[in-house]
Amino acid sequence: KTRVRFAPSPTGPLHIGGVRTALFNYLFTKKNGGDFILRIEDTDQNRYVDGAEQYIIDSLNWCGIPFDEGPGKEGKFGPYRQSERKSLYRQYAERLIEKGKAYYAFDTPEKLDYHRKDHESKGKTFIYNWHNRLKLDNSLSLMPEEVQKRINSGEEYVIRFLTPPDVKLSLNDSIRGEIEIDTNTLDDKVLFKSDGMPTYHLANIVDDHLMEITHVIRGEEWLPSLALHQQLYDAFEWQAPQFAHLPLIMKPVGKGKLSKRDGEKMGFPVFPLTWHESEGYKEAGYFPEAVVNFLALLGWNPGTEQELFSLEELVQSFSLERVNKSGARFDPDKTKWYNQHYLQETDNGDLARLFIEGIEDEKLNGKSKEYVEKVVSLIKERATFVSDFWNLSDYFFQTPEGYNEKAVKKQWKDDTPKILRELLSLYQNTDDFNSEAIESTTKDWIASQELSFGKVMPPLRLVIVGDMKGPHLFDIISMIGKEESIKRIKKALD
Ligand code: GLU
Repeated sequence: KTRVRFAPSPTGPLHIGGVRTALFNYLFTKKNGGDFILRIEDTDQNRYVDGAEQYIIDSLNWCGIPFDEGPGKEGKFGPYRQSERKSLYRQYAERLIEKGKAYYAFDTPEKLDYHRKDHESKGKTFIYNWHNRLKLDNSLSLMPEEVQKRINSGEEYVIRFLTPPDVKLSLNDSIRGEIEIDTNTLDDKVLFKSDGMPTYHLANIVDDHLMEITHVIRGEEWLPSLALHQQLYDAFEWQAPQFAHLPLIMKPVGKGKLSKRDGEKMGFPVFPLTWHESEGYKEAGYFPEAVVNFLALLGWNPGTEQELFSLEELVQSFSLERVNKSGARFDPDKTKWYNQHYLQETDNGDLARLFIEGIEDEKLNGKSKEYVEKVVSLIKERATFVSDFWNLSDYFFQTPEGYNEKAVKKQWKDDTPKILRELLSLYQNTDDFNSEAIESTTKDWIASQELSFGKVMPPLRLVIVGDMKGPHLFDIISMIGKEESIKRIKKALD
């Protein structure tokens, strides 16, 4: 059975790249009838941020991609927080030492820092591996008795992976194909830290193995770790999962990957939900369906022109073969386009509810839910977000306070007051303000007066709406009703 995991570290808000990783995992496993596991990688206690785990869970649920196993949904592979699995990892680090694949190292952070700086000053990078191992302070440069003595005396140590020299590793990635790595370029990475916690690398591999993960789908930033991970699987003599590294999400313009700062600068969110003072997609008025749809196309292409996909359709169409190697450019306009589409698809009753929830009561002037729903049906095609509704529809709820000056200049002619006065008396003597009825009453009158439409309709729109915008004018007149229409014409004639 296919088993994939999303393994975020709870170090802050989940960025849009993280949600995309979760989504691709979800799509891939659901297509194969498999399970989606959430594992919280919280072994780095210094970077732990309170509330981050709940935020991750809420974000996945909001997107409609819930996990099958994870914190709060215990399955037989739990617990799913690495901090709760703490006692498990040491034995694996020790097993590697016994196998001669790892070793104790006693170098103090100060010493390592000194080496690092010393190398930097010579324009070199300090790599802890075969070429300098014996000069450093570790069990490979010491007699076994000495090592034991130092451990017994309580001296701090870490456990490092023993990278073999001169091996050409051949790594396989579903998206990138074969990747060759020379082990001479690799560090002896720390697997187990002096604080008694495993590093990300060890915990990640042990858990993926114990949780029977079949496919590891994660961001490209983890590609440099693949060589170590593959070597760890080999060292344990475990079958490695199939790896797939997703392309980076790039800035809308220029070079580099999308950052929180791009979001702030360009006024679009980067988080799915609001994180403290940073705005998220949810609060910005995005529909989860729109977010899921645009994220799916960030790095994956269906091989057709199709752009609109429901979650089920994505599950059906998704495949790792169609994930691109090159970075995926984030396009805020496209994101909005998706939202506009999903807004049109949303039921008017739901839209009316969202509109009412998001606005001060006074503004709606006591209008009924049915009235709001009708308004929504008339104006929604011009909206990208529910928050656009008010600007598109204020005149349905209140008499315009002023008139668009440019429009007045253009539409208000010498004979306009006279025409409007006559129209006013026509309306005063009319009772049927049903949209079609008032339309034919008005048009018949225009014809009988031998007036042109252009003399009547634009000024009428201006006095009713306050501007030249809005849907079909007779729908508006019918909605606001006889009394209010008369009031608006009178007001303009004052
Ligand atoms: N904990 C890592 C992260 O924060 C997981 C990387 C992986 O999926 O292996 O992204």
